[in-house]
Amino acid sequence: ANYSVVLAENRKLHNELQELKGNIRVYCRIRPFLRGQKEKQTVIEYIGENGELVVVNPSKQGKEGRRSFKFNMVYSPASVQAQVYSDIQPLVQSVLDGYNVCIFAYGQTGSGKTYTMTGPDGASEEDWGVNYRALNDLFRISQMRESTFKITKDRYYVCNIYHASSTVFLDLHTLGILSTSQANGLAVPEASMFPVNGTADVLDLMNTGLRNRAKGSTAMNERSSRSHSIVTIHVQGKDIKSGSTMHSSLHLVDLAGSERVDRSEVTGDRLKEAQHINKSLSALGDVISALAQKNAHIPYRNSKLTQVLQASLGGQAKTLMFVQLNPEIGSYSETMSTLKFAERASGVELGAARSSK
Ligand code: ADP
Repeated sequence: ANYSVVLAENRKLHNELQELKGNIRVYCRIRPFLRGQKEKQTVIEYIGENGELVVVNPSKQGKEGRRSFKFNMVYSPASVQAQVYSDIQPLVQSVLDGYNVCIFAYGQTGSGKTYTMTGPDGASEEDWGVNYRALNDLFRISQMRESTFKITKDRYYVCNIYHASSTVFLDLHTLGILSTSQANGLAVPEASMFPVNGTADVLDLMNTGLRNRAKGSTAMNERSSRSHSIVTIHVQGKDIKSGSTMHSSLHLVDLAGSERVDRSEVTGDRLKEAQHINKSLSALGDVISALAQKNAHIPYRNSKLTQVLQASLGGQAKTLMFVQLNPEIGSYSETMSTLKFAERASGVELGAARSSK
């Protein structure tokens, strides 16, 4: 293993992320044009160092056709996996400080969600996505001599939420029985958890889970993912200094494609599936809006997705959203709707108890 992270270098970033707790951070990543792709014209006009992004409407000239956005971070198509991960590594570290952390990827099919979270098919270590690097780090940091937090017990599960016809299935890809409380209050009788002792165990489980992920081909993209894939690590550990036991969790979420149904040209059961996916993503949008407006009632219960993520979308949680963009001109309208979703999320404060830790 030649991948390593120098914690000291990340100290400043760590502190900044600590400050930012209680907000949803939005990191925008633009995927490169793929080999063999003819259309090289892009709608991305400008990428600034401070998270600025300017998008041009290909059918409108001048100022009117330009729209600028500002996020916590924007990655150009040249960004590499190690760089992206080192920027978010402090968040993973804070799982060992007792925080619930949620990292999710949002965007249309083919925009690089799976690339960012998992890596390309058959990835070498260099191409590993956030999932592998994060899991590796959790174990590595907990085993370091200077770490004040030692993992005493881990529980791991992969959860695919997929939709067939009008039924929503929750497939927690594991064995045994998971109690209701362990699954964020979600009653999933067939669900279960595996104890894991290190990265190797987790990778084994994750690969099995990924292979089982529901996928289907649509007119848009053969690799279209019709399911939300959620990897969760529950960590229980001991603080060496105080001797107290802490529980925390890390959710790694690869959401289903956010594209509109009509563009996928699907019918029958596939159309129903697409509509259900749109429904759960819009439920996520509604939760984010309600949080942004500081509403008293947050509609977590409107979808399985928001129920599973409830603990990570409120209070003391730290949440980071990768907003994935396809740079092609043909994706302009999807890119704009993705960016508007992201803009809504980027102002969100997760809870009132922001400064209590
Ligand atoms: P999604 O999960 O959003 O449907 P994928 O992650 O499958 O999209 O990405 C679509 C294609 O683009 C894949 O072939 C993937 O390997 C490639 N790709 C995505 N992001 C990058 C990137 N940053 N660098 C190189 N290739 C990428």
